[in-house]
Amino acid sequence: MAPTSTDELFCSTLRARGQRVTPQRLAIAAVLRDLHHHATAEELHGLVSARVPGISLPTVYSTLELLEDLGAVRRVVNDGGTALFDARTDEHHHAICRRCGLVVDIEATPDQSQLLDAARTAGFAPDDAQVVVRGVCAACRTVREAETAAA
Ligand SMILES: [Zn+2]
Ligand SMILES: [Zn+2]
Repeated sequence: MAPTSTDELFCSTLRARGQRVTPQRLAIAAVLRDLHHHATAEELHGLVSARVPGISLPTVYSTLELLEDLGAVRRVVNDGGTALFDARTDEHHHAICRRCGLVVDIEATPDQSQLLDAARTAGFAPDDAQVVVRGVCAACRTVREAETAAA
């Protein structure tokens, strides 16, 4: 695998933080970058294992935490409380299906300052605000309508 500028950026960020650049970390960052959806640590572990045989789930978790710390990945929490990791780090929000757990990106620009101010009032030092819209996705709506029609 030829090094890309993103890899170089990741390496220099790691070094700047006094962190070691390891093949495991590079593989996890590469898998996340190629991923175009939101994945659990378990899913990522499966994908990374294909590149780095024998990598452990705790290593995947700790690397994801490090990447989150570096701002290279965002964490989204679904209804079940499972953390999903998102390689897209620009400001965006999510809609989550309460039936199947599907998570999609939604484009909107809610008033962040109001949310952050409210968090500060509650004693928080907020990093950012992510809005989650809950509901039922298109596929599940079709199923639900079919069920309703059959009943
Ligand atoms: Zn659904
Ligand atoms: Zn997203």
